[in-house]
Amino acid sequence: MNWDELDLVVIGGGLAGALTVDRMSSSGKRVAWFDRHSGSSSTLTGAGIMNPITGRKFVYSWLFDRFEAHALQTYQDLQSDLHPILHRLCILKGLATPGDVNNWCLRLGEAPFDRYMQEPQSPEGLSFLREVHQLGLIDPVYRVDMANVVESVAAKWGRPHHGILMGARQMDIKGKSERIPDHVPVVLATGSPVQKVDRLDLPLTPYQGQALLISSMDLPSDRIIHHKLKVVPYGGDTFWVGTFDQWDDLSEQPTDEGHHVITETLNRYFDINYEVIGQVSGIRPASRTRRPFVGELPGNPQTFIINGLGTKGASLAPLMVKTLCDFLLLGVEIPNEFMMPAG
Ligand SMILES: Cc1cc2nc3c(=O)[nH]c(=O)nc-3n(C[C@H](O)[C@H](O)[C@H](O)COP(=O)(O)OP(=O)(O)OC[C@H]3O[C@@H](n4cnc5c(N)ncnc54)[C@H](O)[C@@H]3O)c2cc1C
Repeated sequence: MNWDELDLVVIGGGLAGALTVDRMSSSGKRVAWFDRHSGSSSTLTGAGIMNPITGRKFVYSWLFDRFEAHALQTYQDLQSDLHPILHRLCILKGLATPGDVNNWCLRLGEAPFDRYMQEPQSPEGLSFLREVHQLGLIDPVYRVDMANVVESVAAKWGRPHHGILMGARQMDIKGKSERIPDHVPVVLATGSPVQKVDRLDLPLTPYQGQALLISSMDLPSDRIIHHKLKVVPYGGDTFWVGTFDQWDDLSEQPTDEGHHVITETLNRYFDINYEVIGQVSGIRPASRTRRPFVGELPGNPQTFIINGLGTKGASLAPLMVKTLCDFLLLGVEIPNEFMMPAG
């Protein structure tokens, strides 16, 4: 690799890496992009839902309006007929008890919830759902095809080269160890495995998530159903169903236990015919504060990091990438709320 001909090295072929490559290359920078090509990443596993209202108490997602506006613009600009990215949907949230209905109704009529949440409705139209009291509608919601974000960037700027980050600036490229010279800026967008590199002490608490891909003719293709599981339309009669989460096992392979728990839950709460056609697994790069961060890696000059996208990469990544790139290109200060928290 002729490092001296480069303005930037980006390591990580997921959502954060791809959007960084696109923004820096579009600004005329000569960028080399690397990935370890392991076949597993959070980006290729996640459903990519941008959901403004989350959790049992129906909380408004942190700074969602800012993140959403920027994400929609970024994905609109990037998508094409070959690589569609944005899918407009809504979520039907199963309210299992009168207490859930009450919590839902407490939010109605109040900004910013009134932009998205509507009166609970009877589950009659979805008679295949079991043990549901009422359904809450969240609308609009977008699903981001995160794999197509990576594909679209690869089509514009070329696929990532094969390279494995071994130390903060140390690479294994096709079996040859190479050190990136100190004057070339590097962006580490490697998600959770960055923790294993050089024993970096980053404020991350990654956790594994698994999902099944199923084929079914009994489910609606225009709505996400969130009742004990999330059932997300993936086009045609294919649906993503998840998740099974683990904090202790951070292996990247899907497990029989994950398969079993998801199918058991699906069988209990959904009276549908279906066939399992795939299983995916990835490690969410969650931070201890549950907030994303960008900035220079302490003790490693010219080495930058974007991480902590956690469960919300689809909405968070575009603005976080812009923040880092504005800093690299224009020297714009990184706002405090987007800086790396103390380790
Ligand atoms: C089950 C599940 C469901 C999810 N659902 C949603 C959802 O509905 N909505 C949402 O917004 N988000 C969701 N997410 C989270 C979302 O997927 C992540 O926030 C986002 O993809 C993180 O992107 P990233 O680029 O930071 O990391 P990753 O996608 O993990 O990408 C990191 C890349 O770096 C590469 N890499 C790692 N280590 C090295 C190394 N040493 N050398 C070279 N390359 C390396 C990897 O191969 C990978 O390509 C979900 C995640 C999971 C697991």
